[in-house]
Formats: sequence, structure tokens, C-alpha cells
Amino acid sequence: MAVVQEKELLCKEWLSKPKKLLINGKWVEPKSGKYFESYNPATEEVLAKIPEGGKEDVDLAVKAARHAFENGPWYRKMTTAQRARCLYKLAELIEKNADELAQLETLDNGKPIKESRYVDVPMTAETFRYYAGWATKIEGETINANSDFFTYTLREPVGVVGQIIPWNFPMLMLAWKWGPALACGNTVVLKPAEQTPLTALRLGELALEAGFPEGVVNIVTGLGPDSAGEFLANHMDVDKIAFTGEDKTGQIIVKASAGNLKRVSLELGGKAPNIVFADADIEAAVKGAITGIFFNQGQVCCAGSRLFLEKAVHDEFMDKLLERVGKMRQGFGLDEDTVIGPQVSKEQQERCLDYIEIAKKEGAKLACGGARPEDLKKGYFVKPTIFTDVNNEMRIAQEEVFGPVLSVIPFKNIEEVAEQANKVRYGLSGAVWTRDVKKAHKLASHIKAGTIWVNCYNVFDPAVPFGGYKQSGYGRELGKHSIELYSNIKSVWLNLAD
Ligand code: ADP
Repeated sequence: MAVVQEKELLCKEWLSKPKKLLINGKWVEPKSGKYFESYNPATEEVLAKIPEGGKEDVDLAVKAARHAFENGPWYRKMTTAQRARCLYKLAELIEKNADELAQLETLDNGKPIKESRYVDVPMTAETFRYYAGWATKIEGETINANSDFFTYTLREPVGVVGQIIPWNFPMLMLAWKWGPALACGNTVVLKPAEQTPLTALRLGELALEAGFPEGVVNIVTGLGPDSAGEFLANHMDVDKIAFTGEDKTGQIIVKASAGNLKRVSLELGGKAPNIVFADADIEAAVKGAITGIFFNQGQVCCAGSRLFLEKAVHDEFMDKLLERVGKMRQGFGLDEDTVIGPQVSKEQQERCLDYIEIAKKEGAKLACGGARPEDLKKGYFVKPTIFTDVNNEMRIAQEEVFGPVLSVIPFKNIEEVAEQANKVRYGLSGAVWTRDVKKAHKLASHIKAGTIWVNCYNVFDPAVPFGGYKQSGYGRELGKHSIELYSNIKSVWLNLAD
């Protein structure tokens, strides 16, 4: 077993140093005086003591961000090319420290090292590079509305942006938030998830090294309710909140925004239909179903957690799927051979196990998994689990498990599956597997979701927008659409009349 030995841990020394908040370009102890612990979910051991930022800490971070925005060089004095250079430099530093960052992400989150190394780290760097490109291309327009006036628009940053992110892709979510916000000239206060704050703190160091002026990037670690998250969402001097997380928390954020009517963008949960027709390339669709639900231990908001199988292909598909899932190797994330790690926390492990019991009681048939693995005595593991004979009305088909639990729902024809695909409160993503372009396009247009994959799953690029319909949230991240989220339009009328 090729597990990384302690002496090979590149982040070991860094981990042992005291962790602080990043406020106004300096690492400071929390005024709250409080700390919480971040765990390794594979071993249940404490990795580090993390500052629990309180109200005063959030106030100081927002003040620093405000000062940097109004009086600092970032937006007012630096050229867009200089801002772009900071973002490019950060991308370079991420690549330079790629192995260390990958290990840190795997230790804190549990995900397989191959995913951290080949997905999270490179995509984080690419996202910064993509938005570095945007920094020099954000433009207003001239409008020939009335010859007595010269009329033009300015595209300006929103100001101070609060960003609250989840634990499933800690580094990548940071990049999705910082990249466009900083390219537009905003200043930010980031609140990482309490389960996985480590890579954000390391990226804070790299941001300082990349030359971001003081106060442009601030990081306040802490919890959600009655802690840094809530204080940031409620803050009267924050101009916008960008949030990724659970839909229930999203509702709280929206209410919190009412105080000063700050702008809000939300990327929330999902219960994606992954639809396989009998005419599909079945081998490819089986692999797609596995990526769809087991990538990142199923802790993916766009996970293909409802697998709709056309009846004609159901049994053949299930045989192939179960054979492959049986060979998936579960274990410590730092083991090079691991393809499925632990859930991020005990709470998430229990949530999965609870839903497994609910599904059994509802009459779904357990085809594999359904428990924690017997051979892994420690760690928050849940075996890859598949239920067949699921009906779309069941809770296991309607509620987000956020774990490696798949519901298989048989269907007769396109009309039936089209109706069921949309019978859910979420609308983040969906997928269709077929060789018939008409069927593919019909469903791509019919499914109410922000992303549709045809004959593929979980494909991403910083240039392609991502976000939700219905209760999966609003606003589109990535691509040029994220530039719109982080900027304001100002119309200027210049009177030319005598
Ligand atoms: P999960 O339940 O999967 O952890 P959450 O939506 O609770 O998802 O968490 C996502 C992020 O939102 C985390 O950074 C968390 O600390 C933060 N958060 C949770 N509750 C609140 C809240 N009431 N106000 C602001 N932020 C919150």
C-alpha cells in the first residue's frame, strides 16, 4: 500500500505552526480568543487548532477590505494589467506548491490524493489564470441613444465582498470566488468551511507572496451560525455575499442580506437526474454513473444521485455497474490506490447512514454497500451504496444525501423520464446518455437545471458558467457571467447640447 509516510508529508512543518486570521495583510490572533479543531476524516485525529473568528474579527476584516477598496491602490491606482499580474502570480505559486497543497487538501477533506493532485490543484490554478485574463478585458459601452448626449456605461466593482464557502472543494471554491471578484477590482473577506480551513489559510500566504496589496484579501476562519459566517452575512458594510452550501443555509443568507440589501449569489444543493437510454454507449454510461455519484465521495452538489435507467437496459446496466463498484478501492486519501475516501466528518457519515435506513424503510432495494466498511476501524467512511427499485417520490430520491448513495429509478419512455427528471425541488444539473441527438436535445432543453451533460458527467471549465435553477440557487459562477456577479453598471450622461 503506497501510503504517504509522515516524513514525506510536505505540509508537516506548516501544519505545526499556529494558525491565524488574515486581516489587512497580516496574520493575527482572533480577538474572540476562541479556537476550534480541524480533523483528518480518515483517522479522526486533530490536524490543527483554528481561530474561531467572532464579531470583532469580522468587523476588522470588513474594515480592512473597505479601506483597501476605497483608499488602497488595488482598484483606484493599479492598472488592470497589474491586477492581472497578481492573479497570474497566484496561479504560478499554486502550481509551484502543488504537491504540498494536494496533500493538505486530502488530509483536511479526505479526498483521494489523485483527485487533489489532478483535479483540485490544477483547476484552482486554471481558474485564477482564466480570471487573470479577464482583469484587462472588463469594459463598459457607448450608447447612441440621443445625439444631445454622449452616453456611456462604466463596469465597476461592487466593493467589499463576503464569500462563504463549503468543505467539498475547499481550494476550488475559493478560486471560483476570489478569481472573478479580484479580477473586477473588489476586495474580499473569505469565510472557509470549518471542516476544511487549511488550504484557504495556505492560499492566503501565497496571495501575500503574489503581491496582493494589504486588505485586498482577508480570511476569517470560524463557524456558521452565531459565528464568523453569520456576522459576515449580516454585516452592514458588506456589499455582496457569495455563498455555496446547503439550501437551508442559503435561505438564512438571503434573510441576512435584507439589512442593507446586499447583493447575493447562491450555489446550493442538487438531486441531479442522470438518464441512460437503451441506445447509449453502455460502457461509457456505466463509467459516467460512477463518476456522477462516487467522485469526491458523493459530496458534490451536482452529483448524479438519481440514475434513471430505461427498462430495456436496466439489468445489463446494473450487472456492469455493480461489478465495477465492487472493485473500487476505499481507504485513506493519501494512499495512491484509493479511489474513494472517507466522508468529511462524523456528521456527514451519520447523515449518509441515516438516509440508508430511510431508503430501506421506504422499500428501496439495497444492491451494494449500505454500511461503513468493516475493515476500516477508524475514519468517517461509508461504503459506495446503490439502491434499486427506487421510486422518484421516495425521500431517497428527493432529498440531497451528499454522500456515496445512488438511487436507481427504472423508466419506460422519454415522456415518463422527462416528467420525473423535473419532479424535484432542485435544478443544478442533469445528464443524458443516448446516441439519438433528438432525444438528447429534447431533454437538454426540457430539464430545468443550470448544466446538462450529454454522454459525459462532471465536466468543468473555468470558461463555462455553472449555477442553479429552482432551489439550487441563483447567479452563474465561472465564465463571463461571474464578472457580472461581481460588478455594477453605471450609466453616465454627458450633456452635449448648447
Ligand atoms: P454543510 O451543512 O454541508 O456544512 P452549510 O451550508 O452549513 O453546509 O455550510 C456551508 C458554509 O456556510 C460553511 O462555511 C458554514 O460555516 C457556513 N454557514 C453555515 N451556517 C451559516 C449561517 N447561519 N450563516 C452564515 N454562514 C453559515
